[in-house]
Order: sequence, then C-alpha cells, then structure tokens
Amino acid sequence: MIEKKQFYINGAWVNPIAGTDHSVIDPSTEEACAVISLGGQADTDAAVAAAKAALPGWMATPPEERIAALERIYAAYKTRTEDLASAISMEMGAPVALSKTAQVGTGINHLKNFIKAAKDFQWDFPLGDHAPNDRIIHEAVGVCALITPWNWPMNQITLKVGAALVAGNTMVLKPSEESPLNAVIFAEIMDAADLPPGVFNLVNGDGVGVGSQLSAHKDVDMVSFTGSTRAGIAISKSAADSLKRVHLELGGKGANLIFADADDKAVKRSVLHIMNNTGQSCNAPSRMVVESSRYDAAVEEAAAVAAKVEVGPSSVEGRHIGPVVNETQWNKIQDLIQKGIDEGARLVAGGLGRPEGLNKGFYVRPTVFADVTNDMTIAREEIFGPVLSILKFENEAEAVQIANDTPYGLTNYVQSVDDDRRQRLARQLRSGMVEMNGQPRGAGAPFGGMKASGNGREAGAWGIHDFVEVKAVSGWQTA
Ligand code: NAD
Repeated sequence: MIEKKQFYINGAWVNPIAGTDHSVIDPSTEEACAVISLGGQADTDAAVAAAKAALPGWMATPPEERIAALERIYAAYKTRTEDLASAISMEMGAPVALSKTAQVGTGINHLKNFIKAAKDFQWDFPLGDHAPNDRIIHEAVGVCALITPWNWPMNQITLKVGAALVAGNTMVLKPSEESPLNAVIFAEIMDAADLPPGVFNLVNGDGVGVGSQLSAHKDVDMVSFTGSTRAGIAISKSAADSLKRVHLELGGKGANLIFADADDKAVKRSVLHIMNNTGQSCNAPSRMVVESSRYDAAVEEAAAVAAKVEVGPSSVEGRHIGPVVNETQWNKIQDLIQKGIDEGARLVAGGLGRPEGLNKGFYVRPTVFADVTNDMTIAREEIFGPVLSILKFENEAEAVQIANDTPYGLTNYVQSVDDDRRQRLARQLRSGMVEMNGQPRGAGAPFGGMKASGNGREAGAWGIHDFVEVKAVSGWQTA
C-alpha cells in the first residue's frame, strides 16, 4: 500500500500537524490503493504562513527569473510523465493510454504555452503617448489558494500553478482528495525545480476541511477553483468576508448543434467525444441537438457507436473507457439514467447497471437517450458520466434557443459545412468557448465559461492575466 501522508510546506516534506488518514480507492477495483492524510487548520495555517513569507521576495523577482523557474519545472515535469500517468490511472480510473497522452500531455502543453505567453506578456509598460509619465504595472495578486478536481488533474494543476507562479504569486495547492497522488508527484517536480522555499506549498485535504479553511483564510488573497458549481458557490460565500478575489471554473452542459449539412463523421466524432474520459469532462458535449431531417439517422448512428465503446480497467492498454471515479458518482449517474427513463426519454444504448462481465469497479454502460426534451432532468443536470442526450430542432433559431436554455455556459459545439451559419452561431451562443466541426482550440486559447460555468479564463496569456493586479503609476520618469 502506498503511503503519502506528508505535505510540502516551505520547501520541505513535513508531517501533518492535524491530519487524519484517508484511503484512496482505485475505481477499477474498488480496493484501497494508497493512504494519504487530510490536513486540518494548523496545516492550512502553516502552508499559508509559508506562502505569505515568501511573497515579497518572489513578487520582486524579475519576470525573466520567474520564467526560468517555469522552464525548470517544465523540464522536471517531462522526466516524471510515466509516474504521473500511473498515479492518475490508479486513482481516478483513466485508462493508461489516455493518462499517458491526454491527461499528462495537457500539463506539458500548458507549461510550454505559459513559458511562451510569459515571454510575450507586457509586465510593465507606458500608458500611451498622451501620458508619457504614466506607467502600467502588472503585479502578483498575492497568496493564492489553488483548489482542483480529480477529472483532469494535471490539466487543472498546471493551468493554475504555471500561471500563478510566473505572475509572481505564492501559493497553496489543495488537490482533490480523490486524486492526491499525482499532485504529490507534482510537488516533487516543484521541489526538483529549486524554487525559493514557500513559493509553492501542497496540503492534502477535503472540501469541508482544508478547502473551506483556505477560502476563508485572512491571509489568502485569491482562490482559484475548478470543480462543481455547488462548491464554487460555497467558496464564493466563504471568501466574501475577506473580499478575496475568486476565480471559478465550474461545470457545463454543452449543446452540440448538428445541422443536416454536417460532415459525415460529425455524429460519430461527437459520441466519442462525450465518452472520452468516461464522460467526466466539464466541457463534454452532453446534449446533442440534431436538425429534424437528420435526426432519425443520427439517433441510429449514435446508438451504434455507443454500443461499440468498450469499458474496462484503467491498467489495461487500449482505447476503452475506464470506470467513473467513485461510488458516489456511480450512484448519481444511475439515478440520472433512471430519471431519464422515468421522464420519458427513449433509451437507445446502454442503461442501468454495470456492463456485462464487470461486476466490481465503478463501471457505467455507455448510454444514449433519444427524444430528450430540454426540460428533462438529463438535459439540465451535469451527469459527468458516459451518458448522451439527443434532442431535435426544426430551425436555426430553435437550435440557439435550446443551446442557451441552460444555467451553464462553458462550451457549445456547432457541426455544419455552412461557414456563414457557423460564424453567426458562434456569436449567438452564450458560452466561453464554441468549438466548430471538431476543430480543437489552438495552443494558448483561453479556457473558461459564463453563467453557472464560472468567471475565470485559464491557459496562455489570459491565464496569466487572471493572476495579476493592474497598477497605474503616475510621475514615472523614463530614461
Ligand atoms: P468538487 O467541487 O466536489 O471538488 C473540487 C475540489 O473542490 C476538490 O478539491 C474538493 O475537495 C474541493 N471542495 C469541495 N467542496 C469544497 C468547499 N465547500 N470549499 C472548498 N473546497 C471544496 O468537484 P469534483 O467532483 O472534484 O469535480 C467535478 C466538477 O468539476 C464537475 O462539476 C466539473 O464540471 C467541474 N470541472 C470544471 C472545469 C472547468 O474548467 N470549468 C474543469 C474540470 C471540472
């Protein structure tokens, strides 16, 4: 059994002061695979104090030196990809092939993009020709609490740590208690990068413990949170008393508008997209909204594609999907599938229970519902599992109305060969991102949402912007 009970505080691995043991469960087997410690108030206080003490020095470090530190982290990260991938597979269930490529690969890309964005970033510049003695300075926000989820753990950790660090902030990372092992390896990477003590700290813990202690802490200047809308609301409330800045990346319920003229691969591509990472992506295209003339064919094709999606343990190589993260998620998904049936949606693939032959492990059958209407629970709630809802539209106006009729606003998708239509829709859809015809967003594009999907933007230059204060100085004499 792996034991990782220590925290990384002030440049050293330390024993918990107020920790309690917590078993990490492998969702492929339902067996405990590691034991960690959940910190308490004294551990949170120690980490925040270290970050606070390190802040003046790190803030004053020139951007070039902070960029050099990020380059060392990037180099160290690339030496630990196998370890990171094994940990992620074991603790959250992503199959090894997915962990090695997408899960760990996103971290490499984000760190690389931050190095480039930080080199191009305007840290300090004149206001304009009309005001030659005015200077605009971008400086660190301060001590940042970084609270991350389990579903794409290295993606979220590198997005926050990379941007916060290069912008001159000091930080306390609290990863999800469901997937703490990859974060411990990440702290080893940070240790290898030889940063001043206290710039980066890691405390494991749960939401009610370290999570809420950080959000309410008087010495934390900013909370950057990725996770559920429920926790985002709780964090915003507890951060309000100390007026700290709150950056939120929350859930989603993306609409995927498939027009009759969409390319031949649109339906298949969309079904595989929602199944990826076992449906556990905030930007999953979970509502497929199809033009009526293509609807019946799309339902048939989606059911056939889902029926071929294989499910299996995370340790096995291959392109199957793994289990969902834990028993709570498994139960929640089963309840939502039952609700879909009860509310009159037509089940065309998958359904309740485990896939055949898999009696242990939190495995879910790849499921497709047709004839879903936008008022049904499965069209409104984020399921966070391999469950697709298919809806129908008659015309473009109705497609937009259905897409925007949701509390969320993270990513919407459009599939059509008509350039004018796609571009018109991109402006009308209320979401932080619109992806069209299966084309991924480019390196450094901002990731984030509107409405109940949050308010932050991560990655590239926008990711750095979210971690800086803007200072206006007059009476500045340039040589
Ligand atoms: P979660 O909200 O339960 O937990 C996320 C993190 O917050 C964990 O570290 C947890 O310990 C902590 N936490 C929980 N309650 C807290 C509280 N009251 N105060 C402080 N911290 C608290 O979410 P999850 O189940 O780990 O992750 C899944 C959710 O994350 C989904 O809703 C998904 O859509 C969302 N998500 C969003 C994005 C995005 O960028 N928009 C990316 C990935 C995941």
